Amino acid sequence: MPASKPITIIGGGLAGLTLGIGLRQRGIPATVWEAGHYPRHRVCGEFISGRGHDVLARLGLLELFRQAGSVEAHTAAFYLGRAGSPARPLSAPALCLSRFAMDALLADRFRELGGELRENARGRETDFGEGIVRATGRRLQPRAEGSLWFGLKAHARHVPLAADLEMHGAQAGYVGFCRLTGGQVNVCGLFRQCAGRTDAPRHWTDVLRGQAGTPLWERLAGAVFEQNSFCSVAGLSLRPWRAAARSECCIGDALTMIPPVTGNGMSMAFEAAEMAIGPLAAYSRGESAWSEVRQSVAAACDRAFERRLAWARCLQWMMFAPLLRGWPGSVALHSRFLWRMLFACTR
Ligand SMILES: Cc1cc2nc3c(=O)[nH]c(=O)nc-3n(C[C@H](O)[C@H](O)[C@H](O)COP(=O)(O)OP(=O)(O)OC[C@H]3O[C@@H](n4cnc5c(N)ncnc54)[C@H](O)[C@@H]3O)c2cc1C
Repeated sequence: MPASKPITIIGGGLAGLTLGIGLRQRGIPATVWEAGHYPRHRVCGEFISGRGHDVLARLGLLELFRQAGSVEAHTAAFYLGRAGSPARPLSAPALCLSRFAMDALLADRFRELGGELRENARGRETDFGEGIVRATGRRLQPRAEGSLWFGLKAHARHVPLAADLEMHGAQAGYVGFCRLTGGQVNVCGLFRQCAGRTDAPRHWTDVLRGQAGTPLWERLAGAVFEQNSFCSVAGLSLRPWRAAARSECCIGDALTMIPPVTGNGMSMAFEAAEMAIGPLAAYSRGESAWSEVRQSVAAACDRAFERRLAWARCLQWMMFAPLLRGWPGSVALHSRFLWRMLFACTR
């Protein structure tokens, strides 16, 4: 039997580690290069919703998430400025788990399965080629359509919520809350700074709190933030990309980023990783060429994500549309049909 060809995955986030685990479960030699280390806090709403659940179950990871303290979310509420929707049941429960725990447990699992994980090892642009998968996360874009997008995340206590997941649209962005284990709440926001604006510097807690008098402000009025969980990220590109337009084998945010308001990015990372396992295993065993692998992973990702990305763009637009700040927003928030449709179409 000829030896299996090794697969190298550059980027040890959710997509890279999930792929590494799937390959190791099939006995394929796999190495992950991760520029950072584990555990560490990441900017993320930490709310897993959509088809990624089934991927986690198929790869035997769901039980590990439960053991690590994941909690189920059953209800969600949306707010635009001062107007809010009632708490509505989610069509399927979502899972909430801190990235601090999640990334570390995936890293441990990959190592247990015999994968080689190199921490503090950064791949260079010239490293990508045959047998190498790009799972390096978001692509840096300092300005997108005239705006700088940045994200902030921290865990807090004493945040009273009306639903397991709350999403608050504010003037400069949106902030999501979800319950984590032990009375902690994830507070995570995506913000837009328009080109040419030079706002006075503000503390990150003030950016998250938004405008006085809004439900968002009220939620955070008595919040006690865990300072060491704070993290930030800037230069996000929210433009959808087709996988077929990428010249490398890409998965996760390295392929395309879905607007965070959908709470579906992690699911897409798990799904893309799973779709890549079979073609990469076939390449490793010498049954298919690298170009075929790239094409079949790209085609599968495009089929799975195209419609979702289009609807997500629409939802992202709605979060910032001045039109929806008045009564049309109130009407939209109370429409059960719109809620169900947008939720279903973005997953
Ligand atoms: C504000 C915000 C809120 C979000 N909220 C949610 C949410 O509630 N639910 C949800 O499902 N999704 C959410 N997301 C999206 C989600 O975080 C991402 O989709 C997910 O993390 C993508 O996983 P990934 O593995 O592709 O990238 P990442 O998790 O970012 O991992 C990429 C890894 O690659 C490493 N890396 C980068 N370059 C190199 C290199 N050259 N060499 C080696 N390693 C490298 C990085 O250190 C990193 O560990 C949110 C995103 C943002 C910005």
